Amino acid sequence: MAQLAPTTTDSAPNGAPRISFVSLGCPKALVDSERIVTRLRAEGYELTRNHDGADLVIVNTCGFLDSAKAESLSAIGEALAENGKVVVTGCMGAEPEQIRAVHPSVLAITGPQQYESVLAAVHEAVPPKHDPFLDLVPEQGVKLTPRHYAYLKISEGCNNRCTFCIIPKLRGDLVSRPLADVMREAEKLVNAGVRELLVISQDTSAYGVDLKYAESKWKDREWSTRFFDLADALGDLGAWVRLHYVYPYPHVDRVMELMASGKVLPYLDIPFQHASPTVLRRMKRPAAQEKTLARVLSWREAVPDLTLRSTFIVGFPGETEEEFQELLDFLEEGQLDRVGCFKFEPVAGAPANALENPVPDEVKAERYERFMLKQQAISARRLKRKVGTRQQVIIDSLTPGGAIGRTKGDAPEIDGSVKIAARRPLRVGEVVTVKIEASDAYDLMGTAGF
Ligand code: SF4
Repeated sequence: MAQLAPTTTDSAPNGAPRISFVSLGCPKALVDSERIVTRLRAEGYELTRNHDGADLVIVNTCGFLDSAKAESLSAIGEALAENGKVVVTGCMGAEPEQIRAVHPSVLAITGPQQYESVLAAVHEAVPPKHDPFLDLVPEQGVKLTPRHYAYLKISEGCNNRCTFCIIPKLRGDLVSRPLADVMREAEKLVNAGVRELLVISQDTSAYGVDLKYAESKWKDREWSTRFFDLADALGDLGAWVRLHYVYPYPHVDRVMELMASGKVLPYLDIPFQHASPTVLRRMKRPAAQEKTLARVLSWREAVPDLTLRSTFIVGFPGETEEEFQELLDFLEEGQLDRVGCFKFEPVAGAPANALENPVPDEVKAERYERFMLKQQAISARRLKRKVGTRQQVIIDSLTPGGAIGRTKGDAPEIDGSVKIAARRPLRVGEVVTVKIEASDAYDLMGTAGF
């Protein structure tokens, strides 16, 4: 058992809250403890060696063997007796009922690696002393995107095994963040001025599968750690919510109601990668068995202004002319709005490299050209339908006499934009109504303040 107190003090003359920290178990648990302690120190908490006199005790438990569980329970008991305010985390936190059965009065129980939940429990019991002159990190964290939009990562890793991809080898299986953790970060971002949240992960529609859709408490309500609930809860924050990397599983249908009611942007980024069932099988793509075209058409019926974005790979090993033609037909029938295309390239370590019949480079290049020509025509047609309409546009940057912005159908960096002429000064991050007057293959042009 380690009593962590790297910069300990038994008195905190500056009035900073004091935490006593007990770390049990293996090196992985110790790393978790170090991360929590680092965050606590960065937020101005002091560490103390004694439970007695601390404002709170954190016990990072081990649940590997029965003897380790017994040691964890006894450490919690000691902390309760000496202090009374105890937050439990770590491996044993994955079985909260075992802890509650013996120690019903612990303040909060979180599982391993749930740093955000531990920090949230500490903040609730003993709020940090925020000093804007001393704290290097702003309350919402450090962001690398402009102030008005932010990426929100909801999980790490992936349970799929697409044959062209090595991400699961590099990052492991899916690990979702509990819904309340994601929501706390999202709320902080919105409070700090973010107007658009971009939900990202390797497989957003699989969110929560690893946690068996565990209940998560947010704003006095139990939510399920699941794709629909997260989209619904994010929709309450009053920012634009854009969903990326969603696969066309049947349960995605439900999100259409959130889009139709305006809670979530009518936008889905679905990396289809191909449309031929035989190629999708060779790729081992998720949802490859689903009736994708029928699903896309039913979504369009439910949400007529839905923008669909996707990426595709041409020249995957064994791709025949017929299979490629199926892909072009899908583009035509599905009328996808925004599409990226890549020529297949072997990635070191990917199983697809060993597949038979690699497609020669010149065939790949020729298919790429045909694909792009077809998609350009579709994209131009779809954008032209917006000419004459009024669109809500978020301003990304200012230009002499106007600004560059994006409609609800355009994600930053990857989609098109709107060139705006304005009769009044605009602000970055502002959402304005723009009358669309012209379009080309990728972008729109219009006037604000008409
Ligand atoms: S390409 Fe497939 S395996 Fe790779 S991250 Fe995406 S869904 Fe997971």
